[in-house]
Amino acid sequence: MSHLFYLSTAARPVLNRAEGIYMWDRDGRRFIDGSSGAMVSNIGHSNPAVLAAMRAQMDKSTFGYRLHFETEPGERLAAKVAALSPAGLEKVFFVSGGSEAVESAVKLARQWAVVTGQAQRWKVISRFPSYHGSTLGALSLTGYDPLTDPFLPMMVQMPKIPAPRAYLDGLDMEDPATGAHYAAMLEAQILAEGPGSVLAFIQEPVGGASTGALVPPAGYMQAIRTICDRYGVLLIHDEVMSGGGRVGTFLGGDLWGIIPDIVAISKGFGAGYVPLGAMVARGDIVEAVQAAGGFVHGHTYAGNPLACAAGLAVLEEIGRNDLMGNAARVGAVLKSRLKNLMQRYGFIGDVRGEGMLLAFELVADRATMTPLPPAMKAFDTLVELAYAEGLIVYSRRTRGGYAGDHVLVCPPMITTEAQVDEIMDKLIRALDQFAA
Ligand code: PMP
Repeated sequence: MSHLFYLSTAARPVLNRAEGIYMWDRDGRRFIDGSSGAMVSNIGHSNPAVLAAMRAQMDKSTFGYRLHFETEPGERLAAKVAALSPAGLEKVFFVSGGSEAVESAVKLARQWAVVTGQAQRWKVISRFPSYHGSTLGALSLTGYDPLTDPFLPMMVQMPKIPAPRAYLDGLDMEDPATGAHYAAMLEAQILAEGPGSVLAFIQEPVGGASTGALVPPAGYMQAIRTICDRYGVLLIHDEVMSGGGRVGTFLGGDLWGIIPDIVAISKGFGAGYVPLGAMVARGDIVEAVQAAGGFVHGHTYAGNPLACAAGLAVLEEIGRNDLMGNAARVGAVLKSRLKNLMQRYGFIGDVRGEGMLLAFELVADRATMTPLPPAMKAFDTLVELAYAEGLIVYSRRTRGGYAGDHVLVCPPMITTEAQVDEIMDKLIRALDQFAA
C-alpha cells in the first residue's frame, strides 16, 4: 500500500531515472516527456551543467534565511532575470512556486495601492477560463470549474471576463477588431465594478492548462495595456507556464512587445531541478512599497542559495545553447506537424500555441466546435493511450468546465526535429486507437 495521496487515482509506474527528454520507470520502460512534466522541465532532465552548479553550491551552502543574508546566487539570478525582462521590470522577489508567485504579485499590487493612497482599489479581474494556482487567493482568480467547484464559495470572489477564444466564437484571429472586441469586455467590467475599486487585471499571455495554449488575437494585448493605463489598473502577467523561454522569448508578453507592471514566473524557471518562482515588478512600484516600510510578505524557503544557483544555471544553459531559438524553430515544426493531423482526424478542431507551448483541441464537430461529450472522457482515454505508447502528454477538460478536451504537447526546449518525429509517431499511434 502506498502512503502517498494525490488527485489522480490512476496507477502510475515508479520513476527511476531521466535524461534529456526521456524518462525510465523502475522496470526499465522508457517514456518521452512530451509535456515536460506539467510544462516544467524546460531544458530536459539531468542537464550536466545544472547538476554541476547544484553540487558546487551544495558544497558551499544550501540555506540562508533571507532576513539574515543576501546570497551570491540570489543576487546574480535577480540581475539575470532583470536583464532578460523588458525595460522597467527590474525588481525580483523569489518564491518557491507558481501559486506563491501569483499571490506575491497580488499582495505587492495591493500594498502599493494602499501606500499610494488608493486603498479603495482591491478587486483583481481575471479571465474565464484561466488557471492561476491552487492556494486560496490564487484559486479565487482562477476560472476553471473542476478546480474551484469543490471549494465554493471562494473565500474571495473576484470578477472574471471571458478569455479571448476567437477560435470558438468564429472570429478572425488576424483582425484587430477581434482583439478590440475581447479587450472591450475588460473595460466594461472595470466600469461595472467602479474603476476606483479595481486594483489589477491578471492574464496568461499564452494560456496554459485551462485553455490549452490559447494565443490572443491581433490587437488584443495592446488594447488591454491601453485600457489598464486608462483606468490606473495594474496589468499582472501570469507567466508561470509561458515564461522562462518556452514560447521562444523569455516572457510570453514579449511576443507582442507588451510590458506588464508585474510578472509571475515559476515552472520552467526551476525547470524541474528545484522549486523556484519569482515575481518581477516595476521598479517604482517596489520603491514606493519599500519607502513605506517594506513589502510585508515572504515564504521561508524563498530565494535559498541552492534554488537560485540551479535557476541561474538553467538560464545560462538556455543562453549558451540558444534554447529559446530552438523552442521557436522546432516548436514551429511540431506545430505544423500537429496541424497536419487535422486532415487525418476530424475530431481535432484546433491547433494553437507559440514555441513549445502547443495544444490541440478535440471536438465532436469541427464546423461548430461542439465539444466531445463528457461521457467520452477523451481527456483520460487519449492520455492513457499515449502513455501506453511511451509518450507523456498533458490533457485537461477545456472550455473552463467539464465539456471538451485539449491536449498539450510541450516537450522540453532541447527537443530536436528527429525527436519531433518520434513524438509524432507515438501520438499518431495513440490517435489511431482513439479514433477506432
Ligand atoms: N499559474 C499558472 C499559469 C500555472 O500554469 C500554474 C501551474 N499549473 C500555476 C499558476 C500554479 O503554480 P504551482 O503549481 O507551482 O503553484
